[in-house]
Amino acid sequence: MKVVVDKIPPEGIAFSEEHPPEWLTNIPEFSQPGDTYIQDRILLSGQVSREGQNLRLRGEVATRLHTFCTRCGDEVEWPLGGSFDLVLMPGKPRRPEEEVGLTPEEMDHLYFEGPEVELDQYFREEVALGIPIQTLCREDCRGLCPQCGVNWNRESCACAQSEGDPRLGILRKLKIKS
Ligand SMILES: [Zn+2]
Ligand SMILES: [Zn+2]
Repeated sequence: MKVVVDKIPPEGIAFSEEHPPEWLTNIPEFSQPGDTYIQDRILLSGQVSREGQNLRLRGEVATRLHTFCTRCGDEVEWPLGGSFDLVLMPGKPRRPEEEVGLTPEEMDHLYFEGPEVELDQYFREEVALGIPIQTLCREDCRGLCPQCGVNWNRESCACAQSEGDPRLGILRKLKIKS
């Protein structure tokens, strides 16, 4: 979505868009079936407005990620997205190599160059920021047995009971004097 800064009316411009997974050009591997990919359209809605010299982008992004449980490896469909509220300041967009030595606050600053601004780059970044480090099939996923590999959500095994927690091995060998 492109906007001409000088033509944004005082009340702002509302937008509502749908994009195919290929739109996410900052993470090209997410648009191809693989371990982790976007399996639905990417919905974007919100409003762009002017605040003095700045541009403000508010809205929501939503899609679905196909991935695997971090603990047990089962397939997971993960709702991806959330709301965003960004302030863009006039200036040259920064390249990654220019970020060296910036304070965290400066790192947060976003820039735009007029008169016409392509907003998709900021929206794409919001999708990327929403990708979780950990995706669990359920909050209390019990994971796989590190010794025999059974999925503890579906089966139990004898390993845990016979071996105990390996981290406690040293403690068990200590003789405690009374
Ligand atoms: Zn799991
Ligand atoms: Zn086991």
